[in-house]
Amino acid sequence: MAQRASDVVVPKARTRKLTIVAQDPAVTGTDGNILTAEVDVPAEELARGPWGYRVHVIDYDGSTRTLYKPLEYAVDGDGVAKDRFRKPSQRTILGDPQFHAQNVYAIVMRTLARFEFALGRRVSWGFRGHQLNVAPHAFADANAFYTERDQALLFGYFPGRRGTVFSCLSHDVVAHETTHALVDGLRERFTDPSSPDQAAFHEGFADVVALLSVFSLRDVTRLLLDRDSRKRAGTRASRRLIDRKHLTAEALRQSLLFGLAEEMGEELSLVRGQALRRSVEMPPSRDYIKSEEFDEPHRRGELLVAAMMNAFVEVLVTRLASLGRIEGNALDRSRVAEEAAESADYLLTMTIRALDYTAPVHIEFADFLSALLTADHEIRPDDSKYQFRKHLLASFRGYGIDPCSEATKPDAFWPSPSGDAFRRERTHFESMTRDPDEVFRFIWENRRALRLSDGAYTRVLSVRPCLRIAPDDGFPLRETVAECMQQIKIEAGRLKSLGVDKPEEMPDDQEVSLDGGMTLIFDEYGRLKFAIAKRLLDLSDPDVQARQSRRLADLWRFGYYRKGASLARRFSTMHRERALGMTRALAEEW
Ligand SMILES: [Zn+2]
Repeated sequence: MAQRASDVVVPKARTRKLTIVAQDPAVTGTDGNILTAEVDVPAEELARGPWGYRVHVIDYDGSTRTLYKPLEYAVDGDGVAKDRFRKPSQRTILGDPQFHAQNVYAIVMRTLARFEFALGRRVSWGFRGHQLNVAPHAFADANAFYTERDQALLFGYFPGRRGTVFSCLSHDVVAHETTHALVDGLRERFTDPSSPDQAAFHEGFADVVALLSVFSLRDVTRLLLDRDSRKRAGTRASRRLIDRKHLTAEALRQSLLFGLAEEMGEELSLVRGQALRRSVEMPPSRDYIKSEEFDEPHRRGELLVAAMMNAFVEVLVTRLASLGRIEGNALDRSRVAEEAAESADYLLTMTIRALDYTAPVHIEFADFLSALLTADHEIRPDDSKYQFRKHLLASFRGYGIDPCSEATKPDAFWPSPSGDAFRRERTHFESMTRDPDEVFRFIWENRRALRLSDGAYTRVLSVRPCLRIAPDDGFPLRETVAECMQQIKIEAGRLKSLGVDKPEEMPDDQEVSLDGGMTLIFDEYGRLKFAIAKRLLDLSDPDVQARQSRRLADLWRFGYYRKGASLARRFSTMHRERALGMTRALAEEW
């Protein structure tokens, strides 16, 4: 029997396009208008707000006590809302609160979707609850932050030289704050007081994700390349071609990185800091990381940004070398812009994926480097084409970040444990992909082989099955990622018996806690592929005790044990310091 048209089920669209400000209102296109871009976000049936399955935009201004009218979309036949703001006018962008609501909704959802794509599973926010509240005009102040307590991203606005500056219109600021909310959900212990690296990691990582999100928009890279060639060749610049001599690492650093740093709204640096500008101005040197100046968490975070963004440029040069020349020594300009956006996008995926390959506690930059390289190697064994891993390794080294001692040589991967060392006969793999108790049983049965510390409180924090798609052949890679942590609380006077040094002036009766943790990665057959550990104690490895001693010394030095200093306060203080360093008393206080 012939099928009637009405019987045919048309699959519903999974994504939809929404218009956003490409970077911030200071970045304008060749026509002088604010550069906008259409981005893909997950398709969903939205309630008034927009209010979707993961984000609820509530446009309440606490400073003026105004509740703006929620944005409502007309729906097409597919149940998918239509973009109300295609090709918006300058007036709409700057003056229509409903456009601001769309802008934050789309960027938050796009960032979430990038995390979910990279990790191959659903990703939760850093709080119980599914929907993140987002207030695009939360208060009159040059600030924006994630607050776990309110389960919200709050964006401020403030007077600028040419009218009001809205932090909710800045792509990198919105993506940065969203990243805090996501990393907090993935690695809850990364906000604990630990080393200078850990304190710097959240900020540096959020900046890297935000910048690569911006560079992954073709409209942005195209604009920066156009701008640069007009600057150099004036009106003689070819609209279609770009000479190879402008595509060296140094030239691209100038046109793309420095170009964007120059374009970004200066006034917004009150909110976003200057990570990109500083990272461009920081040529590779192994000295920064040892200097006292870079003990400060935000400065130290900029090192991570510098190492990553320089690797991005080197990768791009390699990719461009494989593009065919079309005339003499010239390349097609749109293809160059496209390659730049694609390189940024690939590096963004690598960056996010690396989180799964980090231990749950005490992250240091060297660990992140091995995580980046190992996670990528698992999904894309052959690095020869674009050499992402080679360039990352070289770039981190250039900034004094060497692979840690347990990493393999010369690739700096995490070592794989030998498969036969572990007992599996008493655990069920199917439950191991989702059940913390089952994973705990595996850990308990294998505590010796895993070299866990005896006598410590041990808990499985999460068990997450993932399905990632390999970029080269489209094959799925199934993994289960489980986090386990260990803790002991002890009086400082007894630290010596564990081989850990007590900070000299710390009183003997001061209670301290020592943490350790391990991320276990199982393959699709339930075999343990990696056990990425920051051990609590390990008598066979003096480095472990040395790290615990160093951590206590750092915490003592930074005043963590001073009376009344709570973990939460320490952390919010750290964020306030960034603001205070920049002319006004602001708080990114998430
Ligand atoms: Zn931040």
